[in-house]
Amino acid sequence: MDLKSTYLAMGISPEVYDYCLEKEKLLSGRFSEIDRIFEFNQLKVLKAMQDCKVSEACLVETTGYGYNDIGRDRLEEVYARIFRTEDALVRSQIVCGTHALTVALFGNTRPGDEIFSPVGLPYDTLLEVLGVNEAQGSLKEYGVSFAYCDIKEDGSFDWEAIRKGINERTALVTIQRSRGYSQRHTLSIGEIKELIAFIRSVKPEITIMVDNCYGEFIEDMEPSEVGADMVVGSLIKNPGGGIAPVGGYVAGTSRCVKNAAARLTAPGLYKELGPSLGNNRLLYQGLFMAPSVAASAEKGAILLSAVYEGAGFSCTPGPFDQRDDIIEAVTFHDPKYVISFCRGVQRAASVDSFIRPEPTPTPGYEHDIIMAAGCFISGSSIELSADGPLREPYTVYFQGGLTYFHSKFGVMMSLQQLIDDGLFDIRKLS
Ligand SMILES: *Cc1c(COP(=O)(O)O)cnc(C)c1O
Repeated sequence: MDLKSTYLAMGISPEVYDYCLEKEKLLSGRFSEIDRIFEFNQLKVLKAMQDCKVSEACLVETTGYGYNDIGRDRLEEVYARIFRTEDALVRSQIVCGTHALTVALFGNTRPGDEIFSPVGLPYDTLLEVLGVNEAQGSLKEYGVSFAYCDIKEDGSFDWEAIRKGINERTALVTIQRSRGYSQRHTLSIGEIKELIAFIRSVKPEITIMVDNCYGEFIEDMEPSEVGADMVVGSLIKNPGGGIAPVGGYVAGTSRCVKNAAARLTAPGLYKELGPSLGNNRLLYQGLFMAPSVAASAEKGAILLSAVYEGAGFSCTPGPFDQRDDIIEAVTFHDPKYVISFCRGVQRAASVDSFIRPEPTPTPGYEHDIIMAAGCFISGSSIELSADGPLREPYTVYFQGGLTYFHSKFGVMMSLQQLIDDGLFDIRKLS
């Protein structure tokens, strides 16, 4: 078996191969830290499944109203155990992360309320949900306003601005764990804990929601274990393990989850309705695989960071920095690099590797976006993927990889593409 010649046959040049391997060798200590969290979370998921007595009967299909769907109900119990919450709503009728957050926000606010973000503007697609960007049907149209303050330049919370930002109308605080398409860092569980404690000291009865997208199973705790009333995420990211075909979750207090269910289905129907269709097995199996997949993706992100930092680009987080999600950001200050990088990642895809991505307008996003996404599940960003909005400072976000070696190949191929497109001088690698 000759690994190197296999990579060469797949389009990687010897210089890129040798250089990436040299970087990878430096990361073994880092990777074993990640494996410890993976191991812990694998047991956490397994124990939750065993404690809830997940059985073969949970894997069968239901249709129509989905009354007495025991597989669905038990999966929600499993989620509640993993997130240490009173209840959870885990549904394939939730079409994406934005939808899960929308259901949580609409369900848990009333006209006249204000929503406050202490960590800057939220993820692009939420700007329309909130009505920061004018949109039909936004929370703003229902008389729910939105306010925020930024994280400080040095990355710390702006305690003074947070205290001022919370007023008598503030009913819900939304904390986005992951950086999304912004330049700030992703929050650690420790930081979220500190932030929640402070908010509670200002206004104890406030509802605190954490957008947990991309953060699940990266640490040994989830935000709901440090005081959040609800955590929300997408099943085509970490907790779906690359196997869930669609879905989202809201895990939290009984009150928060019931409020969300009232919006997803209807007041009175709540969690009683909603067939799992044929998805139960995939949602269980995906959850079971999720700690492994999240760890693989995280290792791929660390390799990317080591490789691109070594090649002279600015990467956040750095390869040895604390990490709290699976995203790696490389800033190029030039749109040509963003496009070329994404084309490289696409060349490494399992599906549609022969397609050349182009920047396009995308629903919910303000700028053109280029996406590399050759996935089994359409748009799944727990699979190897990269995307970047075509705007200053021209940062590309890389994430996913169902296996570490796929992610590694994506890292190599992206660099290879920059070289092939004449944007990076191969001689700099030796
Ligand atoms: C992906 C993401 C969302 C939205 O999820 P979609 O599934 O794309 O709608 C929201 N917040 C954060 C931080 C995300 O990463």
